[in-house]
Amino acid sequence: IADDPDALVAKLTEIVDRLRVAPDRGKVADYIPELACIDPHQFGLSICLCDGTQMNFGDAETPFSIQSVSKAFTLAIALGRFGEGLWRRVGREPSSNAFNSVVDLELEKGKPRNPFVNAGAIVVTDEIMAGRAPRDALAEILWFVRTAAGDNAIYIDEALAKSEKVTGHRNWSLAHFLKSSGNLKHECDLSLGTYFHQCAIEMNCVQLARAGRFLAGLSAKDELVSTSHVRSINALMMTCGHYDGSGEFAYRVGFPGKSGVGGGIMAVVPGKASIAVWSPGLNEYGNSKLGTIALEELSLAAVWSVFSVN
Ligand code: GLU
Repeated sequence: IADDPDALVAKLTEIVDRLRVAPDRGKVADYIPELACIDPHQFGLSICLCDGTQMNFGDAETPFSIQSVSKAFTLAIALGRFGEGLWRRVGREPSSNAFNSVVDLELEKGKPRNPFVNAGAIVVTDEIMAGRAPRDALAEILWFVRTAAGDNAIYIDEALAKSEKVTGHRNWSLAHFLKSSGNLKHECDLSLGTYFHQCAIEMNCVQLARAGRFLAGLSAKDELVSTSHVRSINALMMTCGHYDGSGEFAYRVGFPGKSGVGGGIMAVVPGKASIAVWSPGLNEYGNSKLGTIALEELSLAAVWSVFSVN
């Protein structure tokens, strides 16, 4: 169905219509108070294709909190500014521990395993802040996302950022551990404040699928991000983009994706498609339960797993 737009629309319509009313939807993240009250009965999907077309399904225009999907954008900015030097502060290996685990940090002496676990993302944000005020770093992150999506209406939910700043004790402990290991350049409240704000960016699937085009190689050639950095980011999204559920995601879906606890996933089929899917209920790894199922079914139908040989 990948080369037949009508078949693709029919397949996606069937998937979305079924999953919108699926009874078993996973559990909405409740450790961030503002996310706990989101209605789990929502499902949106948007896909951008290499011919420039975009197709939207279900609640594709409803904004949601992108949370950890933002880590793919901050990694792109940090690689652009600092290049390979970034890897002195953060590793590139998957983790078998949860997204907010303190165990890896303890074992690795303050060097987070990868840029997509919380500790690693806090280090990446801290790096982006180097030499300027937090508000300027945050402005660049928002500018980057808006430019990638081609939409200046994208905004940050201040109330959500504040609620995480007050209740995100696990992230505070990670920041303090990083600081005590000499791997945080700024004060914990500055780096974390910026991190909580980037997580609180609100987008809908239409905007998020557009924002992922640079990773799929679908945007104009005056690239926001070099092709070598796109390759690096996609490799990390494939191996680490779904936390300790990354192996499962590679097995079932087979292309790079980055998830967030808001229930969004930004996924890319290199050279072919950029996809955003959102359903707030999460599976046991903290990744969108129905979003993962939708991507798995799409991947099978379109033969889009990078591991497929037919
Ligand atoms: N802001 C969330 C946290 O730090 C992001 C986690 C996620 O989306 O996976 O806990």
